[in-house]
Amino acid sequence: MSRRPRGAGSAAEPPVVPRPAQLQEFRRNLLAWFHAHKRALPWRETRDPYRIWISEVMLQQTRVAAALPYYRRFQARFPNVRALARAPERDVLQAWVGLGYYSRARNLQRAAWEMVHRHSGRFPQTLEAALALPGVGRYTAAAVLSIAYDVPLAVLDGNVARVLARLGAVRGDLRDPRRWKLLEAAAQHLLGRTAPGDWNQAMMELGATVCTPRAPSCSACPVSKFCRARALNLQASIPAPRKKRGPEDVRLAAAVLLDARGYTLLVGPEPGSGNGLFSRMWQFPAVRVKASPEASLRLHLRNTLRIEPPSGFALAPARHTVTYRRVTLLPYLMPVEKLPEAPLGAARTENARIEPGGRVRLPLSGVERWPISSATRKIARRALAAAESK
Ligand code: SF4
Repeated sequence: MSRRPRGAGSAAEPPVVPRPAQLQEFRRNLLAWFHAHKRALPWRETRDPYRIWISEVMLQQTRVAAALPYYRRFQARFPNVRALARAPERDVLQAWVGLGYYSRARNLQRAAWEMVHRHSGRFPQTLEAALALPGVGRYTAAAVLSIAYDVPLAVLDGNVARVLARLGAVRGDLRDPRRWKLLEAAAQHLLGRTAPGDWNQAMMELGATVCTPRAPSCSACPVSKFCRARALNLQASIPAPRKKRGPEDVRLAAAVLLDARGYTLLVGPEPGSGNGLFSRMWQFPAVRVKASPEASLRLHLRNTLRIEPPSGFALAPARHTVTYRRVTLLPYLMPVEKLPEAPLGAARTENARIEPGGRVRLPLSGVERWPISSATRKIARRALAAAESK
């Protein structure tokens, strides 16, 4: 490891990386370790950019073990770009249920459509074209281009940033934009010129399995001799913990309108429902409330559905967590003589597009087969149990 340059570890200088004379040894050690210890994962058995792209998007917010079954099912259901582009949105969202962050699934399909219509059904081969795809940022582009096409672009995600910060004993918030830029420069400097995809995966694997956020396994680390944090015994304090946003408590009242046939009403995304708490999927009419949840809900139904809401039965509240928001769902079962009309041309099948203003009438017992978020599923289950017990 080089002597620490003046200011290294601040945002004023690039993070410390091995001296040029040590760079070859550093790369050799890391790659040898990767080839000997890498986990066998299906997306590592292919150079198919489509498969690599899907895996990278799934892994952005999801652990490998949790993503694996989704990845296999997704590949079986949508084996290539064209299959994904022409699939009903509902199918794509259904394949994503449980992974969360549904904008990823929507962007995948929009990007697949772009690839079919502008790139001959392939993931584009330049950074500029890749970045123009919906949902593809610098990280995803670099990962797919390097692994599938050997484009020499280094990835920088949380794992790689942590490894680099420890190697260089970089203090401070790594997500500070200036510091992040410096880490990007360091990652690019270290990038192995042959097989950049292997190099990127090796860095990510080291961060995921050895240089872990808590208690890194320095004794098993193939590059420990280059690590400044280890030399200074600073592994535990680098990177600096991020300032966490405090939790926000949200209460959401939802109306399960139910007619005598057991039919209910789902609507498209509603602006008053609390900023994406239903993942922009089909949902029960709902509104964020403070005091008097039933009165607020009735007012919401008057304003949005133009109905005089019936009296409802409060069902047991359900808890739901979305990132920093702790949500209390307050469902109301509201028997009605007649459900509000769905607009002309409104969805009749589960394949219908989910859009603001959309409405569907369907059996309450069938709600779970529609593309809904887990919050809506919780409400539906409570309502169904209550309706069946009457
Ligand atoms: Fe991370 Fe320890 Fe390896 Fe340094 S020696 S890179 S802290 S695992």
